[in-house]
Amino acid sequence: VHVEGLLRNKGAEVVTVEGSTTVADALQTMATRRVGALVVSADGSAVDGIVSERDVVWGLADRGAGLLGETVATIMTRDVVTCGMATTVDQLSTMMTEGRMRHVPVVVDGALAGIVSIGDVVKDRLRELEAETQSLHEYISHGR
Ligand code: AMP
Repeated sequence: VHVEGLLRNKGAEVVTVEGSTTVADALQTMATRRVGALVVSADGSAVDGIVSERDVVWGLADRGAGLLGETVATIMTRDVVTCGMATTVDQLSTMMTEGRMRHVPVVVDGALAGIVSIGDVVKDRLRELEAETQSLHEYISHGR
């Protein structure tokens, strides 16, 4: 399965914020949209950075509660690892494990085209394993 297949199920929508958004507002957006990371983008298409729950936790530990009034630009990761439509679920697994990141934005021709989370990858793996188990069961019980 490729990223294209994953997005067919979950859609292309990505929740983005501008770099000037306060950390407090970004947390509100994460809570109401039920996501763990936001792509930081000035125009909703170019990826300027990514900010996840973890950046907020690290920022709070580092700077204290005053962080909430600061901008997401001060805590976001600027060097964003992205993928394309043809990236495989296997490749995503490796990227997420080795890079210790649970989110990978999808970029097509320089424009944001979706986002894949570790949950999407795990869901697809489970579906694949279940299909494989079922065909093995059928093979064992019917020999086909
Ligand atoms: P996460 O596991 O996605 O919550 O993110 C853990 C850390 O990796 C945070 O510092 C994020 O800003 C960063 N991060 C998340 N996704 C990416 C990505 N696709 N590329 C680079 N860094 C990322």
